[in-house]
Amino acid sequence: MALERLQKVIAEAGIASRRKAEKMITAGRVRVDGKVVTKLGTKVDTFSNITVDGEPIERESLHTYLFYKPRGVVSTAHDEKGRKTVVDYFEDLPYRLYPIGRLDYDTSGLLLMTNDGALANLLMHPRNEVSKVYVAKIKGRLTPEEIAALKKGVSFDGHKSAPAKVRVLKTNTKKDTQIVQLTIHEGHYHQVKRMFKAVGHLVEKLSRERYAFLDLEGLVSGQYRELKHEEIDRLK
Ligand code: URA
Repeated sequence: MALERLQKVIAEAGIASRRKAEKMITAGRVRVDGKVVTKLGTKVDTFSNITVDGEPIERESLHTYLFYKPRGVVSTAHDEKGRKTVVDYFEDLPYRLYPIGRLDYDTSGLLLMTNDGALANLLMHPRNEVSKVYVAKIKGRLTPEEIAALKKGVSFDGHKSAPAKVRVLKTNTKKDTQIVQLTIHEGHYHQVKRMFKAVGHLVEKLSRERYAFLDLEGLVSGQYRELKHEEIDRLK
């Protein structure tokens, strides 16, 4: 999503149809970051400076929202089963937003939504190691050995997790469940559930409470707020 075809970007800026945009490109009328581009299908990102006949085109303005994703909502733009998606919550906004990463259908919590492809790429790159804090309700109780294993890194499906922070927040001896806070920097598919499974515990409920320095303060499930410029700068 971060990279888009040049002719599509020109068409979306309302300059010309996609076919006409293609002709403008092959005719050498289009420059990307100062260089003439005649190859069709050239990909550009949200920060590329594009001119047609020397005139800069207006790109969609960039917006990022902090969303409190409810449980029972999918994190993709479309769902073949017709379930509610995170994008549905932003229907009234004039931007095409998409999630930065994913939360499972049955996971609630903090999800960033953006139309800024470069920011999404940056934050999802493993090198950036954004810290994420999850709170899980697990079946059973962690032993000191299991806590040590989670802290050190556990193996699941051929992958070894990086060291995590683990804090037991609450134990319900009667129901034999525990509320555990887990801080990780990775984002593999079902990562938290698979980490707990690796030490023998089923996750009954999961929510993401923090993403980098951001939390859900002031929001209830299903609500969102736009990130401020300072917050975006701090994420970068
Ligand atoms: N880990 C999971 O298992 N599920 C999520 O939704 C997020 C992290």
